[in-house]
Parts: sequence; C-alpha cells; structure tokens
Amino acid sequence: MPEQNILNYSLSELSDMLENKGISAVEISSAYLGMFRNHGGKINCYITVNEDMVIADARKSDERRSAGNALSRYDGIPIAVKDNICTQGVRTTCASRILENFIPPYDATSYAKLKAAGFILFGKTNMDEFAMGSSTENSYFGVVKNPYNTGKVPGGSSGGSAAAVSARMAPAALGSDTGGSIRQPAAFCGVTGIKPTYGRVSRYGLVAFASSLDQIGSFGKNVADAALLLSAVSGYDEKDSTSVDREIDFAPEHITGDIKGMKIGIPDEYFIGCSGEITAKIGEKVELLRKGGADIRKISLKYIDYAVPVYYLIATAEASSNLARYDGVRYGYRSPGVSGIDTLYNRTRSEGFGKEVKRRIILGTFSLSSGYYDAYYLKALKGRTLIIEDFVNAFREVDAIITPTTTATAFGIGEMSGNPLQMYMSDILTISANLAGIPGISVPIGLDSSGMPMGLQIMGNHFNERAILNVGSAVEKICDPVKPEM
Ligand code: GLN
Repeated sequence: MPEQNILNYSLSELSDMLENKGISAVEISSAYLGMFRNHGGKINCYITVNEDMVIADARKSDERRSAGNALSRYDGIPIAVKDNICTQGVRTTCASRILENFIPPYDATSYAKLKAAGFILFGKTNMDEFAMGSSTENSYFGVVKNPYNTGKVPGGSSGGSAAAVSARMAPAALGSDTGGSIRQPAAFCGVTGIKPTYGRVSRYGLVAFASSLDQIGSFGKNVADAALLLSAVSGYDEKDSTSVDREIDFAPEHITGDIKGMKIGIPDEYFIGCSGEITAKIGEKVELLRKGGADIRKISLKYIDYAVPVYYLIATAEASSNLARYDGVRYGYRSPGVSGIDTLYNRTRSEGFGKEVKRRIILGTFSLSSGYYDAYYLKALKGRTLIIEDFVNAFREVDAIITPTTTATAFGIGEMSGNPLQMYMSDILTISANLAGIPGISVPIGLDSSGMPMGLQIMGNHFNERAILNVGSAVEKICDPVKPEM
C-alpha cells in the first residue's frame, strides 16, 4: 500500500483498514513517522515525538488485535495531543520553559479515554506558551509554520495540532480552546476544528489557563473525524466538577448533513471588517445551504464589540490566579543557586515565563487588585452576561449561527508579534463562544487568491454539538476539498 494513501485516510477508513483489510498499526504509524521525519523540522508542529514509543505501542496494538482483544475499532490509530494535556510519563511542557522538564505522573481524562480505546499517542504538539496567543509564535520551542506557506503563522494557540493534521503528520489531534485556539488555527491551516460546550469534556489534566473558558476539543481532516474524536473524549468526569453528564449524540453516525428545515442565523455584525473574499465565499455557501432546504435568517449579535475587552480582562484575571502555582517550589523550573523565598519566586518566574505570559499575569493582577476590581473585572463580568443574553435570544430563533471564523486568512510570521492589541483584536469572531460557553466549529471552505485557507464558523446552543456538526457536514459536502502541498 503506498504510504501516501494511508496519510489521506479518515479515521473511519483507517479503522476499517485495521479491522478488515489487514493493514497494521505499525504500518499506519510508520507512514506518519515518515512524514514527520521529512517535514517535522520545517513545520515545527511537535515538541515531543518519541518514535520508539510510537512503534512499540503500535506493535502492542497489532498483537492485541490479532489475539482478538482490540480495545476498540480504533485500536492502533495514532493521535497528536496538544502539549498542555497531561500524558503520564511523557513530557508536558505547555511550550514554557517553566515546565520544560515536567513529566506528569497522571493522564488527563481526555487522553486516558483515548488510551483506553487503543489510540496511540503520536506526539505532543507545539503551542503558544500556556495557550496564550493567536499565532503559535509565543512558544519556548520556536515558531510553528503554516503548511500552506511557511512564511505564515498556523494560528494559535493550538497551532501545532492544526498544522500536524493539515500537513499529514497526524490523522487527528486534540487541542484546547479558551478564546478560539482550536477554531482559528483550524481555519488558518485548512482543517476542521471543534470546541464543544463548556462542560462537555473533562478538563482534568488540562494545564489551566482561564478556567471558566478553557475547553478541550478536536481537529480532524473532515467533520466526521472531528466528531469522532470529540465524542471519544466527551462525558462526565467526577474529577472535573464543571463536567456535565449529557448524552453524547454527535458521533459520526448521528451526523447526516441533513439541514432541511433547519433555522440558521447570519449576524451582520460578524462580517464587519472581514475580507471581501471570505465574506463572498461564506455568502456562496449560505446560498447553497438555503437551496439545500435551510431556513436562513438575519439575526443580530449586538454586543460583539464587548467581546475582546471582556475576554482579555476575564482570561488574564483567571490566568494570573492559575499561574501563581509556578513558584519554583512545588514543581517545574527553579532558578538555580537562589536563597530567600522572595528572590526564588521572582527569579524563577522572571526566567521561566515568556513575555506574553508575563504581560497577561500583570494585566490580570491589575484588574483584580482592590482599587480596580469594580472598574475592570466586575465590569467585564457584566459585559459577559450581555454577550450570553445575546446568544440566549438568538437561539430562541435559530438552531445554528454561521459567521466567518476569522476576518482574514493567516498573517505573516512577525507581522503582528510586536503589536499585542492588534493580535488580540484578531480573535474577535471566536471568543464570544467561549464567553457564552457554547460550542463552535470551523470548517474549511477553500483557498483565497493568495492560496491560504479560509474558514467558516458555526456556533450552536449549549450541548447542541449535533446541530453544528450537521451544518458543518452539509457545508463540507458542497465544498472544494483542500489539501496542503508539502
Ligand atoms: N488568542 C486567545 C488568547 O491569546 C485565545 C487563546 C486560546 O484559546 N487558548 O488568549
């Protein structure tokens, strides 16, 4: 079997090959390792790939399957995992110097579920340090490159996971999304990425950034793969008090792509400042959905202008608290040869954290400080409530909302890194979903005139992943397939 084919198979095709066609887990992993050896250095999408471990795990999977003991239909399929998701015995750095040598003694629940189903850990993907960023330029392990154009960013913070799937260095991947970190890189790299409802997936073992916003989600080559991986990690977990016990009704067999009679809202506010090409392409897709039987309606989400300031106050406030634990005492990096506790904290944190992380801690500490709490943090919470109400009203009228994922396609490496405010503004279309806790997906809709992928975002009501996956699948069926040239 030519390796090229293996790399293009979907998860269900890989499963079928393993179950019925005599292809081995070792062959699958070897094909992906081959791609990684040839292009991994150029794209820099992985922080850790342990080739020996991948092959040893694949071998064990093959032995299980031939003895009739496969753990699931997917036993033997390799998966990439973002490096802020704890993997027992495998370094989990969060792309930070402060966790450079951290080897977790336990698995995140999401990863434990994959392991129990026999999925193989292919590698840990590069990311913005502590998931803070929109370009994967803020990594202690170097910038990740966009597989479509290595002069451009892959988006962030899950840029490594998106680039790995896009460049065929993993069939699918886990990421995390606090303000768009799955959907925006998915859009930039021409793959599908879904952030579920807050509470769908256990955050146990996810290194915390902003706990009221963080969610684990998935990347796939297509909607069915993203749905499959997400359904595999979803579910209640007693180890995460914010996880919710709800039926998982969005496995690939539930996703028909049938949108007849479905009410889909289009908010004009989300197209302001958006590139003409993206707006036009989304217009085309929406028209096709209308022809396919969807009931397309104009809606208004009027508080979009609050999203960026509200998010950057709440996310930084929570981050400043979450990151207090990196003190050089408990675990992680410790500045050497220091005496005195204050100096130890100071040096460890000054040396261990990168520039953007420090900026966020300072911002967050400021907005929580007693003199400014009411003016900033409390006001942001009120703004968040208005954004939530906007969505509650919208979902009284429609089943799903379509917007662009980003206002423009991937920007150049270095183009925005000197201007944090401009970078923050680039998240404007994705962060409201996190503030409201609702699910969102980005599906690729082809390339712009410069050859870069464009993304269409679909948002749904709480726990209605099924609706957005169905619309995503319908969009996919009427789309030109996109695939990066390596
Ligand atoms: N770009 C946003 C930020 O920097 C979102 C990051 C994320 O979703 N992890 O905070």
